[in-house]
Amino acid sequence: MSESKPSEKRAPKARLTALYEIDAQKGAAKLKNRKCPRCGNIMAHHKAPVERWTCGSCSFTDFVKATTAKG
Ligand SMILES: [Zn+2]
Repeated sequence: MSESKPSEKRAPKARLTALYEIDAQKGAAKLKNRKCPRCGNIMAHHKAPVERWTCGSCSFTDFVKATTAKG
């Protein structure tokens, strides 16, 4: 055991690009998805049949509505 490799115990390459939108020009990462207000998990965006955000963990659903000018 002469090979002494530096411990590469870094975090595994997470697929952040799936969740984050990388702005190459600004060099910033933006979170694409919303976070569940209930449990904090990343929510999934669905467009059909109605646009909504759904949490796969607690099944919380947030419907996207066109905000009315006056409520
Ligand atoms: Zn949730």
